[in-house]
Amino acid sequence: MAKTPVAKNEELTVTVEDLTYEGMGVAKVDGYPLFIDGALPGERAVVHVVKAEKKFAFARLKTLETTSPDRVTPRDAAYTQTGIAPLQHLAYPAQLAFKAAQIRNLYKKAHLDVPVKETLGMAQPSGYRNKAQIPVRMVNGQPTTGFYKRRSHELLPLEDFYIQDPKIDTAVLVVRDLLRRYGVPAYDEATNTGVIRHIMVRRGYFSHQMMIVLVSRTWAVPYLDELVAGITAALPEVVSIVLNLNERATNVILGKKTQMLYGTPYLEDSLLGSRFRISPLSFYQVNPTQTEVLYTQAVEAAGLTGQEVVIDAYSGIGTISLTMAKHAKQVYGVEIVPEAVADARENARLNGVTNAEFVLGKAEDVMQAWKEEGLHADVLMVDPPRKGLAPEFVAAVGVMLPPKVVYVSCNPATLARDIAALQGFGYKATATQPVDMFPQTTSIESVTVLTRAE
Ligand code: SAH
Repeated sequence: MAKTPVAKNEELTVTVEDLTYEGMGVAKVDGYPLFIDGALPGERAVVHVVKAEKKFAFARLKTLETTSPDRVTPRDAAYTQTGIAPLQHLAYPAQLAFKAAQIRNLYKKAHLDVPVKETLGMAQPSGYRNKAQIPVRMVNGQPTTGFYKRRSHELLPLEDFYIQDPKIDTAVLVVRDLLRRYGVPAYDEATNTGVIRHIMVRRGYFSHQMMIVLVSRTWAVPYLDELVAGITAALPEVVSIVLNLNERATNVILGKKTQMLYGTPYLEDSLLGSRFRISPLSFYQVNPTQTEVLYTQAVEAAGLTGQEVVIDAYSGIGTISLTMAKHAKQVYGVEIVPEAVADARENARLNGVTNAEFVLGKAEDVMQAWKEEGLHADVLMVDPPRKGLAPEFVAAVGVMLPPKVVYVSCNPATLARDIAALQGFGYKATATQPVDMFPQTTSIESVTVLTRAE
């Protein structure tokens, strides 16, 4: 093997120049990058090389010789080790600046001339998550909850998850203690044996309703009645307990089949004055206060007057569709998860909305079909998963040519790619507004408006 500029176990002093999109400090030795967890730009640091690859190395921060003015005391090293809060050592205003800068860098690389506004942040950037999916594993012979260390299969026991609603942390401990009391075995990944794999909890920020999902390898769970009775006795907010079956040896958390154990098959919450039912398998934004900020930006960007036909692609349980329906003539939603489409239809009914229709299918297929039917949309709203828009979707936009596209993105890399493709059809992106949905983490959410001169 060719010699690398630094070797494993070497110790050296470096100056940190940059932060990766994963929040790792980057230092260079003769142009060879060293990635250092917890190091910030401008800092001089003594590091220990843990892994040296051909083109880059990973190093551990040992001591800091100078510190960045943006450094704050991290809450707990565990949050960096697990990736729960990889930016916890960076002051919150600097986190917001980092996110806008990431988008600007990607635009520059893609030769896009789109202004990026300052990130809209939270007043209290912790305890915000309304959902948790916590792995359960046997540690010292006991079912234990925590989080995996990054790039490993080792569970780090944790009780305070920092960025989750503290009531969710409490609920996880209640379930863990019941599993311990009744000796219900946790799942074992190595052998695909054992029973309880994950505890998923959702809590409505506005409603305070709670749903508990036990993800199990088998339908048969010892002491199931006792677990349900124990949960409802300890947690009066619980309105729903569900058993989810996931038999396979996989990293995917939820299986496709569920069985009701207690209460309703959904929980309810509200956003911007509308009520929403949320089923266990449906997507729901995890940061409720910032979701209101995000949706307000999207609705304003759409510039609705009550006359418009709106397509909401990737519509989930209809949160954006129903918010827009109040200001539009007609809204068409499309979504791939059947439970989410059923929730969206029910949510329209709950809110007395009669001008929103939801179609089950792949956005790329349904968009092609709408194009062939000659559907005209004034506003196309898209909120795709990380992989962004499918090429067939973009092609259909190029024929339908809605005058305005509002793009909500959770991945600036695919956003930049898709903006470039839409520019090919005569669209121009006027601005991108980042909204911080995930404080202490490196995830970047944003709203971009694209218009097309007719
Ligand atoms: N706009 C909604 C949901 C956004 S998340 C909200 O704000 O709550 C993205 C959604 O896209 C998820 O509900 C996911 O199930 C759905 N999805 C993923 N791939 C899809 C595809 N190819 N076609 C349609 N929907 C898809």
